[in-house]
Amino acid sequence: MKLSKLLGKNLREKPSECFLQSNIFMIRGSYIKNVASGIFSLFLPAKKSIRKIENIIREEMNNINGQEVLFPVVMPATLWEETNRYSTVGNEMIRFKDRNDSNMVLGMTHEEAAVHLAKGVATSYIQYPFMIYQIQTKVRDEPRSRAGLIRAREFTMKDAYSFHVSKNDLEKYYEVCHRAYERIFERVGLREAISIQSDSGVMGGSISHEFMLLSDVGEDKIVICKNCNYKANIEVFVKNNTSLQLNDGLSFEETVEIINGCKCPACESKSIYVSRGIEIGNIFQLGQKYTKDMDMKFVDEKGESKFPYMGCYGIGVGRLYASICEAHNDNYGPIWPISVAPWEVHICALRIDNKDVKEVSEKIYNTLKSDHLDVVFDDRNSSAGEMFADADLLGAPIRIIISARNLNENKVEIITRDKSEKIFAQVDDTLETVKKMISKEYKKLNFND
Ligand SMILES: [Zn+2]
Repeated sequence: MKLSKLLGKNLREKPSECFLQSNIFMIRGSYIKNVASGIFSLFLPAKKSIRKIENIIREEMNNINGQEVLFPVVMPATLWEETNRYSTVGNEMIRFKDRNDSNMVLGMTHEEAAVHLAKGVATSYIQYPFMIYQIQTKVRDEPRSRAGLIRAREFTMKDAYSFHVSKNDLEKYYEVCHRAYERIFERVGLREAISIQSDSGVMGGSISHEFMLLSDVGEDKIVICKNCNYKANIEVFVKNNTSLQLNDGLSFEETVEIINGCKCPACESKSIYVSRGIEIGNIFQLGQKYTKDMDMKFVDEKGESKFPYMGCYGIGVGRLYASICEAHNDNYGPIWPISVAPWEVHICALRIDNKDVKEVSEKIYNTLKSDHLDVVFDDRNSSAGEMFADADLLGAPIRIIISARNLNENKVEIITRDKSEKIFAQVDDTLETVKKMISKEYKKLNFND
């Protein structure tokens, strides 16, 4: 990709309506454009990164025997009436009537659609267990949506549904999926994500976990023990501590004051503290609620008719993407992990009006491209300051700087986005040097490409 042709207009100033770092950089760097509150179009850099994240998720889901399917965005209310959720889910679900005056909804989750798909098809125990998943647009009419992709009203989500002949089999698969989630977060550069016990709320199951990125800008409250491994969301912690008096409407600071120093339910030491987090994934053991409500049955080994057990497993892809940016940035822009960066390599040609610079830059760009590296080439005749500012905003992990001065010694400068490494390579060694640096970047994620 040549930067002169990339659609977008980079801003030097912080947009006034934004308060989250990820949102500020994504607006300033022309990753996203606000269409309405919580509704965005994506420019190429965001689209590319999100596709890379989706492919990592897809690989890990396929790796645990997931079957990729697709449910509709628009569903009839009758499907949601079978589980009574048409009336119990609040205004976050968008309801409307079609031309025949039938009640319809926009999908905000797809348990009903998943059971609908499997019902009458997975009729024998031999077909179990199985997991189906999709990566698709969801719509939730969130009341607060000022956080960019962290809390959008229309967003891409991976949602998976597993079906089992027994509770025991569900519990086993739940652990398998938990590990797959850890691999996903590691591969996208969020090894620091933690999983905590959570309340399953609207999903109606029993055992569930949320995957959290600890972050000062998060809206979720997490209770952690400094002494042992105990982690839970605040609702679960309060439920387990009936002596705690927490009124509704307490501020974060007030809640923290009450809970900090409380006794840990696991190790009993007074080492509890509260942290903020962004929820980037969740997994639930749903049990038989949905299969019973929708009368989905299979025949077991003994010829008896039974309701399957279900698990469901979600990841908000756009939110995960923005969370990566929250976790990895500096004052100048995102520092993308190489696995999800819009481009792996960013070429800056300083003074492209110089004949040598133009020639060498073009040659390096084409060499890297034909070796299937993901590379963007700043071929504009702009100042070094402007070029570097834009390269910082796009956040490619590796940058090649081609200038007349270095070319006098037949060299190019190669630096990492986090500025931790700076190398002068012979022009002819550029490809090999860059490839070595790329594999080093992947090693930082603790996984081999
Ligand atoms: Zn403890």
